Amino acid sequence: MSPPGRPKGEYRSAQHEGAPMSTAPPHSDWSAGGWLAGARRCDSPHRGPRPAGAQAELALIHSISLPPGRYAGDAIERLFTNRLDFDAHPYYEALRGREVSAHFLLRRDGALVQFVGCDERAWHAGPSQWQGRANCNDFSVGIELEGLEGLLFEASQYRALAALLKVLATAYPIRGVAGHEHVAAGRKHDPGAGFDWPWLAAELGWPAAYFPESVGIGY
Ligand SMILES: [Zn+2]
Repeated sequence: MSPPGRPKGEYRSAQHEGAPMSTAPPHSDWSAGGWLAGARRCDSPHRGPRPAGAQAELALIHSISLPPGRYAGDAIERLFTNRLDFDAHPYYEALRGREVSAHFLLRRDGALVQFVGCDERAWHAGPSQWQGRANCNDFSVGIELEGLEGLLFEASQYRALAALLKVLATAYPIRGVAGHEHVAAGRKHDPGAGFDWPWLAAELGWPAAYFPESVGIGY
């Protein structure tokens, strides 16, 4: 099925731009610590170990753009790596001192950036609850889509997201996908109404129970 959004080129990773195609066998998708081959690595200091026994079971979808609605530049990467100049834009004042990260960022063109290895805990969910369990950072992988909550995302982002979720499930016991709005209801609203959950569910072919009830996956 074609992804929603405007068709705009195929999945690609930043690392592949101008680089020779990898000849590595498919089983080397992941390197030690949970770093994905094909993602551009951009290490964040905003990370820590998962609690004993915790693994990545939930893929948690967010949206972000900095400043909001501007889809360019390196401000998101700077925020997640503690290098943002908080004086560079009035909006950034509200972010001053915030130590946040996600495992992955999908840019508008589908390029994938990774900030934290999936074996570790990134700092994206805040106070949150999923299926009766609190503190989603402990057992989730955080995936930021560059965008503005409530608005649409690009076809290239959907393609790259589906590919990312499939490869995540080869290495981790993923048994759910949710939006930040579903695990922090009333406090967070991303990715919002513009995100096409039925397309993602159909593309992955995962059980309806893997998705939030409220998004209405009913096959
Ligand atoms: Zn979020």
